[in-house]
Amino acid sequence: MTVKVQTVCIIGTGLIGGSLALALKKSGFCQRIVGAGRTETTLMKALELGVVDHYETDYAEAVKDADIVVVAVPLSAMKNVFEKIAPALSSTAVVTDAGSAKQSVIRDAQAAFGESSNRFVAGHPIAGTEKSGVTAAFTELYENRKVILTPAENTDSDAVNLVSEMWQAAGAEVESMSAQHHDMVLAGTSHLPHILAFGLVDCLNNLEEVDEVFRFAAGGFRDFTRIASSDPVMWRDICLSNREDILGMIKKYEDQLQMISSALQDSDGDALIEIFQRAKKARDQFSNQ
Ligand code: NAP
Repeated sequence: MTVKVQTVCIIGTGLIGGSLALALKKSGFCQRIVGAGRTETTLMKALELGVVDHYETDYAEAVKDADIVVVAVPLSAMKNVFEKIAPALSSTAVVTDAGSAKQSVIRDAQAAFGESSNRFVAGHPIAGTEKSGVTAAFTELYENRKVILTPAENTDSDAVNLVSEMWQAAGAEVESMSAQHHDMVLAGTSHLPHILAFGLVDCLNNLEEVDEVFRFAAGGFRDFTRIASSDPVMWRDICLSNREDILGMIKKYEDQLQMISSALQDSDGDALIEIFQRAKKARDQFSNQ
């Protein structure tokens, strides 16, 4: 593709930021990628792996010539990064993020950027693995995966278009929705499953027979709990940032478990079959999409 912008600055060159850098390099979307972050050894590794062309440990220095700034740090670190880059951005620069919850990031961006928050486009790639860090980054992460943008009412449409083009260059399909809707949907499809995986492994780990449990664990346990190997700090941040929606989903799930528990107490096989058949049909339909 023809070069679209000169410089993309990626703050947080971990799995998400590093993979985006690799995909943009492959596509030829920009002339150069500048990495930034809090830890110089991580940035040196990113340079050594060819993920970035140049790095800066000073956020303001890193963003000053950037056309697009992508902030891909844990949710609890967004506000600090936004505040540090705000005075150094050019008037035409577009800022976006990759955080897994959107309403909290938009609040942080509006507080830090003030009147310039029209150049901020909130985003979330629906792609990832349970691994973290720049060494886990790979070029194909976003291929044929969805990226959700959640522009606010005041977001400039040219900024939204540029961020869409960037993710498309990385191989992704871009959709837009409100931040509120995003957080509700993702609480069910991503945040609750991670909580259940962490919760199940912790629960089994507390059993006296824990060694036996893990020794005889089969494919189902592996499939269900893979995501419990995800980064605890990232997931603490997601839980706290999307607390209300997640609590709502946990309540729905508690009601569901209660229904299954009641069917078991009553030895009601028909009720169990009804729930399991309904779930199997929905899961099979999803697999065939
Ligand atoms: P990651 O691999 O752990 O990378 C995080 C990056 O942020 C690293 O470069 C890390 O550098 C830096 N960082 C960590 N704490 C920081 C702090 N306090 N201040 C500044 N920089 C800091 O995590 P990731 O999976 O790429 O996740 C990044 C963002 O993408 C998160 O907001 C997450 O919610 C979102 N996301 C993740 C996934 C997923 O499946 N992993 C999917 C979609 C969206 P050092 O620790 O070396 O300093």
